[in-house]
Amino acid sequence: MSSELIESVESIIVDVPIKRVHKFSATSITTQAILLIRIRTRNGVVGIGESTTPGGPWWLGESVESMKLMIDSYFSPALIGSDALQIPEVLRKLNKIAALNSFAKAGIEMALFDIKGKVFNAPLHQLLGGLARESVKTCWPLAIGDIDRDVAEAEHLLSENLAQEFKIKMGYREPKEDVAFACSLASALLSRGATVRVDINQAWDEGTAHRWLPVMIDAGVSVIEQPVQGWNHEAMARITGKYSAQVLADESVCTLQDALKIGSLRFADAFALKAMKSGGILAAQKIAGIAEAAGVPCFAGCFLEASIGSSAMVSLACALPNATYGSEQIGPIWLKEEIVEDPVEIRDNRIWVKHGPGLGVTLSEEKLQRFRRR
Ligand code: MN
Repeated sequence: MSSELIESVESIIVDVPIKRVHKFSATSITTQAILLIRIRTRNGVVGIGESTTPGGPWWLGESVESMKLMIDSYFSPALIGSDALQIPEVLRKLNKIAALNSFAKAGIEMALFDIKGKVFNAPLHQLLGGLARESVKTCWPLAIGDIDRDVAEAEHLLSENLAQEFKIKMGYREPKEDVAFACSLASALLSRGATVRVDINQAWDEGTAHRWLPVMIDAGVSVIEQPVQGWNHEAMARITGKYSAQVLADESVCTLQDALKIGSLRFADAFALKAMKSGGILAAQKIAGIAEAAGVPCFAGCFLEASIGSSAMVSLACALPNATYGSEQIGPIWLKEEIVEDPVEIRDNRIWVKHGPGLGVTLSEEKLQRFRRR
């Protein structure tokens, strides 16, 4: 039986500039901080993983700094000497060392899959069962928060055939202004032939959601992402099916146990899958299986990863029969510069799977040196 014993684990923080400001419900960024994880085996096989949070610790408590500390102090000693090919066994070890820390664990698992793909000369999608499709439809997050600049960005993407579907990021204004902004932007986008979703990033309570969702739906919004707190599955269930728009659960579905509640509560029309929030690709694949059993489609969500994490998620989405809800894996062109030699491709309004061994991307040493945090 082949084995690939781990010799070293490196965690490197890089700060990569983005093309424009990006506003989330809780923060605003102009640079994306990424934690790169490079694992080397005694046979000289090198795997790369990426743990990226959306501009800091607000989403699930982890940041690049906290992940680096966890990896260097706790995970790395347990990884050294372990067999990189036995991924579930390695994850079991990590879960025994530390609860939670799903982003850090996902980045490590990603590097292990990269190693496995290189050892067996297989792309990640083959390791996950094979392709259901070669590409996923782009859903682009508009997050500048300025109507003219957001419309200009959408017009550019529409004219270049990079995206036809847009997601308006909300939650950082008072609901009344937030909704007025989203409705104006939605009508500008709809008049240009686009389709429009909104992501409220759990900024509202249930009453606020019932007050304002119908207004946005009247304005033509077709998908509502996470209007209320992630833990409030019951409120999500009361919103789902009440309105003509579909409800997409993001923060509400991180664990397998969250996903299982779809059977009893029917709290969403679709799930956003993300390797980071669930502790890895294998966990996200299992969540997609639960969704499939419930007849629920999946969306390949993202934390605005570079092409390393993007390739991992697009490979997963392309290997899942029920990942039919598109993908927001737009990091490769949202970043001002990529950190790999061979970024994930976005064209024809779709994001395309990589076919090289493992993640199919090669880290640029020049970019690594340039963007590395000193
Ligand atoms: Mn979201």
